[in-house]
Amino acid sequence: MTMHKNLIAGEWVGSEAIKNINPSNTNDVVGEYARASADDAKAAIAAAKAAFPAWSRSGILERHAILKKTADEILARKDELGTLLAREEGKTLPEAIGETIRAAQIFEFFAGETLRLAGEVLPSVRPNIGVEITREPVGVVGIITPWNFPIAIPAWKIAPALAFGNTVVFKPAELVPGCAWAIVDILHRAGLPKGVLNLVMGKGSVVGQAMLESPDVAAITFTGSTGTGKRVAAASIEHNRKFQLEMGGKNPFVVLDDADLTVAVEAAANSGFFSTGQRCTASSRLIVTEGIHDKFVTALTEKLKGLVVDDALKAGTHIGPVVDAGQLKQDTDYIEIGRKEGAKLAFGGDLVKRDNPGFFLQPTLFTEATNAMRISREEIFGPVVSVIRVKDYEEALATANDTPFGLSSGIATTSLKHATHFKRNAEAGMVMVNLPTAGVDFHVPFGGRKGSSYGPREQGKYANEFYTTVKTAYTLA
Ligand code: NDP
Repeated sequence: MTMHKNLIAGEWVGSEAIKNINPSNTNDVVGEYARASADDAKAAIAAAKAAFPAWSRSGILERHAILKKTADEILARKDELGTLLAREEGKTLPEAIGETIRAAQIFEFFAGETLRLAGEVLPSVRPNIGVEITREPVGVVGIITPWNFPIAIPAWKIAPALAFGNTVVFKPAELVPGCAWAIVDILHRAGLPKGVLNLVMGKGSVVGQAMLESPDVAAITFTGSTGTGKRVAAASIEHNRKFQLEMGGKNPFVVLDDADLTVAVEAAANSGFFSTGQRCTASSRLIVTEGIHDKFVTALTEKLKGLVVDDALKAGTHIGPVVDAGQLKQDTDYIEIGRKEGAKLAFGGDLVKRDNPGFFLQPTLFTEATNAMRISREEIFGPVVSVIRVKDYEEALATANDTPFGLSSGIATTSLKHATHFKRNAEAGMVMVNLPTAGVDFHVPFGGRKGSSYGPREQGKYANEFYTTVKTAYTLA
């Protein structure tokens, strides 16, 4: 098997290989990928630093062309890359192809953004002086990504970083090097100069840590767990560097008595269980008013009975495997915690045996949960959802907001009054009305509040807030 190597200073390098294992079938080795060392990370940072002066002054048409070419190749190879994604991460093939198309759209969007970066010119408050406000690249950007969106999250960080003239050191999650390697290979062949984009696959505690400790990394954009996010923050403050964190969620989905039952059930099933519940925007708290509670639970349980858990690549699979043994243990531990806390297991809870050896878990629904239980407060990151019964809209809103997180909040209602009030008062970065809490656009801001996020929003034109730094220049006329 050929080893996929790291890209440092325009060269493919690496010796020690790790196996990328398919969670739908642990006998299937997706590929062998180089494991970078801390020294490799240092070499990558040095290469990105050396490449910065030229790239930061490169023509915007050159950047546009490279990003557009990348978008076109990803789109042309969507089935192949989607299959790779489904094999290494475990989301179903349609979900994986959808994510791949999204990555292509993101590169295309930021190709356009290279041509749209604007400043401001205005008069000074003092006579005969002009003021210009411009945006400049930040420098070497460290990109650290999680395993759950192996192509879309790297795309929405790498594309704006390069579009605005930064150089990059990219460390993907060790579980999913395949898509990371593929997009770096595409960008490299699309014509990026040496050192502008460097790939260091390997352990967070080694490669990621080396990035956190380097004074030459001017900015770090991180998506992952709250614990690692706090390390990124502490190290970045130490080095006086810019940082951006997207972390966990415990997203509520409120169902009111006046909801359209079909809309509510479809949105709840999608939010809670699709992509195996492994989305930061997944809804794991269903907050349901008492008038619709029993009908809703019955209908959702019926829906869950029809969902097929199986190999991510098999036609007809609705829910693929959990990503690995560690995450599966976390999910089953939380199911046990929920039982012990007194929540009622209304559906699922057990492992599923399939033809292949894989990490298959039934979609699991608890009812009679309270918002104080650990299963309602801590992120599980699996197909495990709790229903919390409440009296009315006011209690539903208070319960939805009673969480340390604040990424995405949803509501199912036919009341304009309640939808409007919820949009205004949900303590979350994103609010969904009659839609799943997960599923966002790439041309508008993405991010949360409270313990979910820190720093400027990602995606859309708001991305320039993080990937550029503002300069104010005064000129005597
Ligand atoms: P982790 O925080 O464990 O990992 C995220 C990335 O950080 C990985 O690349 C990891 O490397 C790296 N890392 C680990 N330790 C360090 C370190 N000491 N220094 C620098 N980097 C390090 O999260 P997961 O990958 O397990 O992802 C799941 C979590 O991410 C969930 O909690 C989920 O909610 C959150 N998430 C949030 C999103 C959001 O937008 N809010 C989106 C997606 C996920 P490696 O794993 O390779 O060792």
